[in-house]
Amino acid sequence: MEALCLDMINSDWRGYRGGEPEQDRLVEREWLEQTTRRWGIVAPHSSDVTRPLQELRTAMRRIIQAHNEEQEPANQDLEVVNCYLALMPATERLVRRSAGYVLEPVPLQQDWRWLLREVATSFVDMLTYYDPTRLKRCQNPVCGWAYYDESRQKNRCWCSEACSNLMRVRRFRAQRQKTPVQG
Ligand SMILES: [Zn+2]
Repeated sequence: MEALCLDMINSDWRGYRGGEPEQDRLVEREWLEQTTRRWGIVAPHSSDVTRPLQELRTAMRRIIQAHNEEQEPANQDLEVVNCYLALMPATERLVRRSAGYVLEPVPLQQDWRWLLREVATSFVDMLTYYDPTRLKRCQNPVCGWAYYDESRQKNRCWCSEACSNLMRVRRFRAQRQKTPVQG
């Protein structure tokens, strides 16, 4: 499943093998503009958006982590999400689509704060319309990317095939080192 909030939560890149330099895409104007466009959000870029997005990213990650550890998320993290949800008031507009009518939110002002509100809304949609216990962080300790586990058994542990294969190989090697060589 794809979601704007997942793109933002996974906006720092450390590779998945370890040893690669960390890149925070929230400081890259081009990445932010591309992602904003990809999700159809009209919010002119400003470098002011970076720090609040980083704060929102941390809160969203902590909420997911809490669910993964079967803990209650901290109120202060929920408050951060609520703050950004309330950052920009919006009205709604009735729009006709081929599949029917939809209500589209329209910001009262077009500026970068709308992006923050949309990221928070995307996260809230995940928690309320989907199963929050399926929101997970990849168990590859180097990676840690968030994903929505759509497997029937709800037992997916990795964000991607790449992480799954890497960890399988590592487990196999660790197992082999533990087993004494016969003969
Ligand atoms: Zn991963």
